[in-house]
Amino acid sequence: MTKALILEQQDGLTVASLRDISAEQLPAGNVTVDVNWSSINYKDALAVTGKGKIIRDFPMVPGIDFAGTVRASEDPRFQAGQNVLLTGWGVGETHWGGLAEQARVNGDWLIPLPAGLDQRKAMIIGTAGFTAMLCVMALEDGGITPESGDILVTGASGGVGSTAVALLHALGYTVTAVSGRQQNAEYLRSIGANSVIERERFNEPARALEKQLWAGAIDVAGGDMLAKIIAQMHYNATVAACGLAGGYQLPTTVMPFILRNVRLQGVDSVMTPAARRAEAWKRLAEILPESFYRLATTEISLAEVPKVAAELLNNTVTGRVIVRIR
Ligand code: NDP
Repeated sequence: MTKALILEQQDGLTVASLRDISAEQLPAGNVTVDVNWSSINYKDALAVTGKGKIIRDFPMVPGIDFAGTVRASEDPRFQAGQNVLLTGWGVGETHWGGLAEQARVNGDWLIPLPAGLDQRKAMIIGTAGFTAMLCVMALEDGGITPESGDILVTGASGGVGSTAVALLHALGYTVTAVSGRQQNAEYLRSIGANSVIERERFNEPARALEKQLWAGAIDVAGGDMLAKIIAQMHYNATVAACGLAGGYQLPTTVMPFILRNVRLQGVDSVMTPAARRAEAWKRLAEILPESFYRLATTEISLAEVPKVAAELLNNTVTGRVIVRIR
């Protein structure tokens, strides 16, 4: 028997419970992994609380990422005892995920643990940190360098935001962190923000074009906030948009695009092709300083996941939350 967090539907509500399941209950797949660490991302919080329609087929084991040790493999690329990690591919959404002592998955979805990372560090990074790296790479693809000017990061206290701040700082960029929580200003400076501004500054509806302030932006908020950021970008700037913490709509105009050559680059971490995945993980292992893992991490047990998932959606969680599975 093996422990798993199971989500079920009762009277239209999502209910989470810690259960013992047998290996036969695990879904089909050619690699079985003993999971040691998982994490709580925004999407996990939506799934576990049932506040977002992430899961359609119940029962489901949530957990969109995990790190562990291969227990058995029919995939020649993976051997028992090997350290691996997984993010995305619908795991924890349509295929049983990482918030369990064992996961059975398709070998195509696994990555050998990159040099320089242990399993715990890999989950401090997790889906959120991987997405932050993809956003930084999107800025680089847009030609943005540390010399281009200030980079804005929204939702800076969260998982994607914190990792983006730390990555950009380590790469030599000047980072302005946006946060709704001024009590986190010191934390944000400690992980690399040069300045911290209040989320409230983005409350006013955007004009078509505003004063040019940012050479690049990494946005987890979407909605009115993203619209205002787009109106404030420099000529030739790039915005990497990956989230919807503030809303999924985008009430903008074409003006910043056609008059300032602004590039809006969407970023998806779920279906990222293998080569870009490998590059992003290699760079994460190289760039993030030791201090980030210490400053940005809260560690919890599997039993605490439902409580912390609710806290994350109430915006009272800072940095990354990792789940100790074994
Ligand atoms: P977190 O909850 O860890 O962080 C989100 C942060 O956003 C909060 O800490 C808060 O920061 C800020 N925030 C909260 N509410 C609002 C609001 N109404 N308006 C503006 N900012 C707000 O989540 P993650 O970092 O894990 O994920 C962030 C977003 O990125 C989510 O929307 C998630 O779905 C998306 N995402 C997308 C991925 C992809 O593949 N495209 C992958 C991973 C995440 P503060 O208090 O400092 O303002």
